[in-house]
Amino acid sequence: MFWPWFEPLETIRTLKRLGARCGQLGLPGEYDLSAASALAWRAACESEDFPIATVFAAYQGESYADIATVERTVGFIPQATRQARVERTLRLSDFAHILGAPAIACHVGFVPEDPSAADYIAVRDAVRQICDHAGGNGQTFALETGQEPAPVLRQFIESVARPNLRINFDPANLILYGTGDPIAALDVLAPWIASVHAKDGDWPGEPGHLGQERRLGEGMVGMALFVRKLREIGYSGGLFVEREVDMLVDRLADMRNGLALLATLAGVQ
Ligand code: MG
Repeated sequence: MFWPWFEPLETIRTLKRLGARCGQLGLPGEYDLSAASALAWRAACESEDFPIATVFAAYQGESYADIATVERTVGFIPQATRQARVERTLRLSDFAHILGAPAIACHVGFVPEDPSAADYIAVRDAVRQICDHAGGNGQTFALETGQEPAPVLRQFIESVARPNLRINFDPANLILYGTGDPIAALDVLAPWIASVHAKDGDWPGEPGHLGQERRLGEGMVGMALFVRKLREIGYSGGLFVEREVDMLVDRLADMRNGLALLATLAGVQ
């Protein structure tokens, strides 16, 4: 999982030096989604033989400072920005289509547990709209896991009822948000998992706070067990190292070590 740290070609070459063979491109809320921008990424990926599996949407005004702030600012829950963010996601789908990526994804925000809640219905309808647009581009649309317990997410997916709706499974998020054991969540969500983040972290120390993200292999996920469980449920897609530490130099070093760990655990990167 990477972001446009540099120009496309330099970013892709940096990832390859870390040991990555493919990736997921995250785009900030202000990033240029024009066709020219997508074509620049496509040219870089083709020249480096580096496929993009997923394009992730992030949105202006989101903050992951603590759980209340996430609830207030992330995804399609905030009403004031909902329509603009949905429209940006449709444009991101078009960007991904030009780039040649088969999937898009985002955090939709905290899904309410009550299916009759106004926010639940609005987010469900937004996800349907995005699924239908992505489907027209031949793409799946994946929801990032972790902000709600696995059974809540499963129920939400079933109520959206769109064949191209999938999950990007992030084991660390379930721990960081205190929503559940990621290994057990795999059993609940297995049929929908299209892609997986290799990220690690510790449980929250106190209510309302997020847990601490850790370098891969140093948190509470239990990466060896997690990778073994992915095999058991028949998952055969990509494992994408994600690291969200602030300093890019640290992030890249940790990603290199994470990729090496995965190669040891799974024989894949
Ligand atoms: Mg993630």
